[in-house]
Amino acid sequence: MSVKVVKFGGSSLADANQIKKAAAIIRADESRKYAVVSAPGKRFSDDIKVTDMFYACYDAAKKGEDFSDIFAKIKERYNGIIKDLGLTLNLDREFAIIEGCLLGNAGRDYAASRGEYLNAVIIAEYLGFDFVDAADVVVFSESGEFMLDKTISLISQRLENSNCAVIPGFYGMREGGTIKTFSRGGSDVTGSLVARAVNAEIYENWTDVSGFLIADPRIVCNAEVIETITYTELRELAYMGAGVLHEDAIFPVRTAGIPINIRNTNEPEAKGTMIVAETDEESRNIITGIAGKKGFCAINIEKDMMNSEVGFGMKVLDVLREFNISFEHLPSGIDTMSIILSSSCIEGREEDILNRIRKAVNPDKLEIEHGLALLAVVGRGMRSTRGTAARTFAALAHARVNVKMIDQGSSELNIIIGVMEEDFEKATSAIYDCFVN
Ligand code: ASP
Repeated sequence: MSVKVVKFGGSSLADANQIKKAAAIIRADESRKYAVVSAPGKRFSDDIKVTDMFYACYDAAKKGEDFSDIFAKIKERYNGIIKDLGLTLNLDREFAIIEGCLLGNAGRDYAASRGEYLNAVIIAEYLGFDFVDAADVVVFSESGEFMLDKTISLISQRLENSNCAVIPGFYGMREGGTIKTFSRGGSDVTGSLVARAVNAEIYENWTDVSGFLIADPRIVCNAEVIETITYTELRELAYMGAGVLHEDAIFPVRTAGIPINIRNTNEPEAKGTMIVAETDEESRNIITGIAGKKGFCAINIEKDMMNSEVGFGMKVLDVLREFNISFEHLPSGIDTMSIILSSSCIEGREEDILNRIRKAVNPDKLEIEHGLALLAVVGRGMRSTRGTAARTFAALAHARVNVKMIDQGSSELNIIIGVMEEDFEKATSAIYDCFVN
C-alpha cells in the first residue's frame, strides 16, 4: 500500500482546534501513516510561538535569571491543548525533566527542541499513533554535521516496525548525545527525511497558505496559486525570497523523485502547489512565478581596454574572495564590469573594498551604486516560448520602470532584472499583470 508522509507546521497545530483539523486530515486518508509535527505556533498575530518561549527560557537560564513565569506559560499552553482535546495525558513528569535540564544549562538547541517533542507526544496520543523520538533517528556528527545516509537508514528501520507514527520535527541528536536542531523552520526538513526513508508516494506539507503564489501577495493582491512547479524553479524563486518551505527540505526527496505537495490545513479541499522533479505540464502563464528582494548594490568598474586585459575579472573577484564576499551577478560591457552584491555583505567596509580593487586593477572609474532590487522571473515555459523577454521588458517600459541590469541564466529558466528599490513593487505588478491577468 502506498504511504504518504504529512508534515504540519506550527500554525496548523497552534491549539486544540487546529490539531483537530490536522487529525481529521490524517484520518481522512489511511495512507497518511507518518506525521511530522512542529511546535505550537502563533494563534493570532501577536501571539508567541512555543519555540520562541523555549528560547526565552534558555536565555534567562543562561544569565542565571528566573524563567518560571515563561515556563509556566508553556505548561499552560500544552495543558490547555490536552484538556481541549479531551485527553487524560499528564505531562508533569516531562515538564519537570525539561525544567531540570534548563536549570542545568542544557543547550539552546535542547531547549528549542522541546516544543516539537511535547507536541508530538500529545498528537500521537490523540491519534493513537506511535511516538517516535527524532533524537533516536535523526543524527548529526559530533561536530554538528548532518548525517543523511545514517538518518535515512535509522528512520526506515524504526518505521518498519510502526504502522502509524508521529515524529517531532526540527531536531535530532549529535553522536555525542546532545540535541541539535536544524535552522528555524526545520521541521520541513524532517518531513522530507521521513518521506525519503519510507519511500513515500508523496510528501504533504500542510501549512496556512494554499501553496506558493505566483507573486508576493503583499505586492499583488489576489495573486494566483502556482499549481505545479519543478524543484529547480522553486530553488530560483526561494533564493529570491519566496518563503513557505525550508530550502533544505528539497534535497532529501528530490533525488528520490518524491513530489512535495504544499497544502492548507484551513482549506483542505484546495489542491495546493505540487513540487515535482520534472513535468510535461505547461505552466498556464508561460512564467511560473516572480520573486525578488531589495537590498542590493552594484560595484561599477570602468577601464579602457578592459576586455583585452587577461585576468582582469579574476583580479577583481579575488578581492571579493579576500573579503569573503560572494556575488550575485556579473553583467559586463566591453570596457565595463559590474558586480551585483547584497548590500549587507559590504556594509562598513566599502572603502576598504574599493581601495583593494583600485590597487588590484587600477580602474579609470570605480563607484558603488546603492538601492537596487533584483527580480527573478522564473518559468520552465520560457525555454520554448519566443517573446517572453520582449513582453517582460515592454511591461516594465509601460510601467515607466528603468531597467538597471538584465541577466538570463544559461538554463533559460529565469530572467533576473535589476531595478531601483523604489520601482520594485511597480515592476513586480507590471510583470504579473502582463503574464497572468
Ligand atoms: N518550531 C521551529 C521554528 O519555529 C521549527 C519549525 O516549526 O519547523 O522554527
